This record gives sequence, structure tokens and C-alpha cells, in this order.
Amino acid sequence: MASIAVNIHDIQEQIKAACLSAGRPLESVRLIAVSKTKPASLIKEAFLAGQIEFGESYVQEFLEKYEDPILEKIPVKWHFIGHLQSNKVRFIIDKVTLVHGIDKLSTAEELSKRAVQHNLHVDYLLEVNTSGETSKYGMQHDEVLASAETLFRMPNINLRGLMTIASPEIKKARQEFRNLRILLGELKKISPDPLKLTELSMGMSGDFEAAIEEGATMIRVGSAIFGWR
Ligand SMILES: *Cc1c(COP(=O)(O)O)cnc(C)c1O
Repeated sequence: MASIAVNIHDIQEQIKAACLSAGRPLESVRLIAVSKTKPASLIKEAFLAGQIEFGESYVQEFLEKYEDPILEKIPVKWHFIGHLQSNKVRFIIDKVTLVHGIDKLSTAEELSKRAVQHNLHVDYLLEVNTSGETSKYGMQHDEVLASAETLFRMPNINLRGLMTIASPEIKKARQEFRNLRILLGELKKISPDPLKLTELSMGMSGDFEAAIEEGATMIRVGSAIFGWR
């Protein structure tokens, strides 16, 4: 099995190539290493290979790693990429750089309430169900636009963009990535602060190159770095 350092290097090369083919600057794409189910020791290994941003999906597991002494002097930046329930918001709000998986007004409200309590300003993304698969979380396209004004008004939270998990089939996935980018454009038109809406979190191990070509600013890559789960 290839080492984590080699995997990260290979992915960086693939990111470079995808940026080049899309005519995008390399700095416009951030790699988030998805470390769910993987131990803190491997996160440390990835960090030592130059990886700084990590994504976790489950609150309890994230908190355990957050507290793990192995990572004590390792200043990683955490992204919460899983589906977030309202009653879990308070556990993570002061520990993460960005919350990717907000898919309900009520969860955004809770995020805002807790952000005010902690005197924090929290960046978040709305999760969009671009594939139409009922098994997936996320708002529908129209729901995003209908909720936008309410979201923009909520104190201490900043909507920074959109996130999606695409269909397994690459042709479909590419269209879904494209649709997410179009939706972000529509959102910008109605936002009081469109310059804040910069992020498209899309693309995983199997489809990140297509996502970059369609405008991803953050890709969430797990198994291609850490091996199969
Ligand atoms: C697990 C997960 C990923 C990473 O998936 P891989 O296919 O292992 O790269 C990305 N995003 C989310 C939301 C995930 O839950």
C-alpha cells in the first residue's frame, strides 16, 4: 500500500493537472483530507506530509480526535462535512473552520443562536441535494433560493457557499457540479454581500477532477489518501 505522503503528493499532482486543463489557478482549489473512521495517528502522518485541512463527518468521532493527545501540538484545521443535527451544533461550533452540511433553516438557526452565545462568527455552507436521490441529505435547488433571505439575516453566521455529494456516475456527477455552480450564481444575485459567496465544496476521491473542472473550490478526498474504509 502506498504511503499517505505519496497519496497526498499524487492527488496534488492531479489537482494541478485539473486546474491547468480548466485554466484555473492552483490556489483556487483547497484539498480537504477526509479522515472519518481513520485514527489520529494517520491524521498526524498526513499533517507531517503537508496536509493542513481535515474533514470529519460524525460528531462523536470528531470530538474524540479533537481531544486526542496525538494531535495536541498539531494545528490542523477541521471542517465538519457530515450531516449536522441541531442538537449537536453546540459540540462543534467553536472547534471547526467551516461547517459544510447545513441543510435546514432550523439547523442554521441553532448555529446562529450558539454563535451569538459564544461570541463567534461561523462560516458555513448549505448542502444541496443535486442528484435528487432520496437517500441523500440536502436542500433542493428552489428551497435554497427560497430560504436565502432568512439565512442572510441570521446573526453571527456567514453563508460562504454550497456543498454537494454527487451521483456515483461521473457524467451525472459532472452535470450536478455544474448545477451547483449555477445555483451559487443565482444566490449571489440575491445576496446583500455576494463577495462572501465564494465556495463550492464538491468532488470526492472518485470525481474530484471533474469537480475542479466545474468550479470546485474545495474537494473532500478520503479513501484516495487514507485507503478504503
Ligand atoms: C466520506 C466523505 C467524503 C470522502 O469520500 P471518498 O470517496 O472517500 O473520497 C467526502 N465528502 C463527504 C461528505 C463524506 O462523507
